[in-house]
Amino acid sequence: MSNIDDLYRWDREHFWHPFTQMADYEPLVIERAEGCTLYDIEGRAYLDGVGSLWCNLHGHRHPRLDAALREQLDRVAHTTALGASNVPAITLAKRLTEIAPPGLEHVFFSDSGATAVEVALKLAFQYWRQRPDPRPAKSCYVAFTDGYHGDTLGSVSVGGVERFHAMFAPLLFETLRLPAPQTYRLPPGVNAADACGYYLAQAEELLRREHARIAAVVIEPLIQCAAGILTHPSGYLRGLRELTRRYNVLLIADEVAVGFGRTGRMFACEHEDVTPDLLCLAKGLTGGYLPLAATLATDELWQAFLGPYEASRQFYHGHTYCGNPLGAAVALASLDVFAEEQTLAKLPAKVERLEMHLRRIAQHPNVGDVRGRGLIRAIELVEDRATARPFAFRERRGHLACRAARERGVLLRPLGNTLVMFPPLSISLDEIDQLMLAIEHGIEVAMR
Ligand SMILES: *Cc1c(COP(=O)(O)O)cnc(C)c1O
Repeated sequence: MSNIDDLYRWDREHFWHPFTQMADYEPLVIERAEGCTLYDIEGRAYLDGVGSLWCNLHGHRHPRLDAALREQLDRVAHTTALGASNVPAITLAKRLTEIAPPGLEHVFFSDSGATAVEVALKLAFQYWRQRPDPRPAKSCYVAFTDGYHGDTLGSVSVGGVERFHAMFAPLLFETLRLPAPQTYRLPPGVNAADACGYYLAQAEELLRREHARIAAVVIEPLIQCAAGILTHPSGYLRGLRELTRRYNVLLIADEVAVGFGRTGRMFACEHEDVTPDLLCLAKGLTGGYLPLAATLATDELWQAFLGPYEASRQFYHGHTYCGNPLGAAVALASLDVFAEEQTLAKLPAKVERLEMHLRRIAQHPNVGDVRGRGLIRAIELVEDRATARPFAFRERRGHLACRAARERGVLLRPLGNTLVMFPPLSISLDEIDQLMLAIEHGIEVAMR
C-alpha cells in the first residue's frame, strides 16, 4: 500500500479530474462507504449529500446490489452486443419497457448520459430519413438555454450552459434555442401564474416557423439540474408534448438526472402524463454502481429501422460495452430494491422533512430562491434578495458554504452560488436533518 502522502501527491499530479481546476484542487480521497456515508483514507466520515454526483439511489454497498454484481461476475463480466446478446441485458430491456411511460418499447444501451443523448439525436435524425414518408429536411434540433446533456460534441451542441459551450462553439452544430422556462427571475411583466403560457407561446412560435427543418426538441423534463436545479413551471412539459405532436416534431426527454425516483415518481414525465418519443436514462440506472445508459424509443421509430439487410436501414451506432452484463445485472437488482424496500412509497415523508428545513432556511436574507422537487433541491444564494442580484462569480460563496458544510461531515458540490441537495433516495430522516443543518451552517459561514 502506498502511504497517504503519496496518494495525495499522485492524485494532484497524475489524475486529471473532470470539471476541476487542478491548480487549486484539494484532494479528497474516498476509501470506502456504507449506506449514505463515505469514508476518506484518513478515516473521516462524510454524508453523501449529492449522491456521488446524482447517481447513487439506494446507498453504497447495498447487500442486494453487491450480491447481484458478484453473482454475475461468476458467470461473465462482458460479451459483445453487436449481433449477440446476454441474459441480464435482455431482462433489463424488458423491465425498462414495463416501467417506462407507456409506448416506449425498445431499448438501445450505451454507457453514459452523454451517449444516451447522442444515440437519441442520431436515432431522430435517421428516423426522418427512413420513415415511410421521409422528411430529410428535418435535421435540426431545438434545445433550451442553460440545458445540459453531457460533454460529447453532439450533447454539447444541444447543451446551453454558456461556460461549457463557449469554448467549443466552433466545433458544434447549429441548434435552435428556446429560453429555459423559469420560476425565478421571470421576464418583466410575467408572473408565476402565466409563466407556463408565456414560455409555451415562445415554443409554439418557434415550432410554427421552423418545424419543417426540426427533427426533435430536447428537454430535461421538469428540472434542468446542471443549470442550477432550474425548475420549470408545472404544465410546461405536457404543453410542449402537445405542441411537438401538432407540429410533427419528435420529443427527446433527457431523464439522465431526474429519472429513477428523484422527483418522487419513477420518471419525471409521469408527473405530466407524458410519453416522449425518445427517453434517455443513465446516472441512477445502476443505482449509482456502474456506467450504463439506455435510450428508449417508440415502436414508430423502431419500425423505420427495419428492412432487408441490403437496404442498410440499421442504426449505424454502437459502443463496445453496450449492454454490459455486470451493469445490467446491478440495474436489475436496483429495480428489485425499489419494489422490495418500497423506495417510492417512503419518499413523501423524506420530502416533507427536507421541506421543513427549507422553509426555515428560506428566511435567510441571502437566500433568493429555494426550488426543486422530490429529493432534488436547491438553495440559491444572492447578494440582494429584493432584486435577485447574484453574488459575483469570483466570490465563490457556494464553494465557501460547501467547504464549511464539509467540516460538519457533509459532502456537497455547488453549482456556482446555488447549493444543491441530491441525496440517495435511501437517506434517513436523521441524515436529512444532518444534511440540512450542515447546509444552514455553511450558509452562515459563507455570508460572514
Ligand atoms: C449528467 C447528465 C448528463 C451526462 O451524463 P454523463 O453520464 O455524465 O455523460 C446528461 N444529461 C443530464 C440531464 C445530466 O444531468
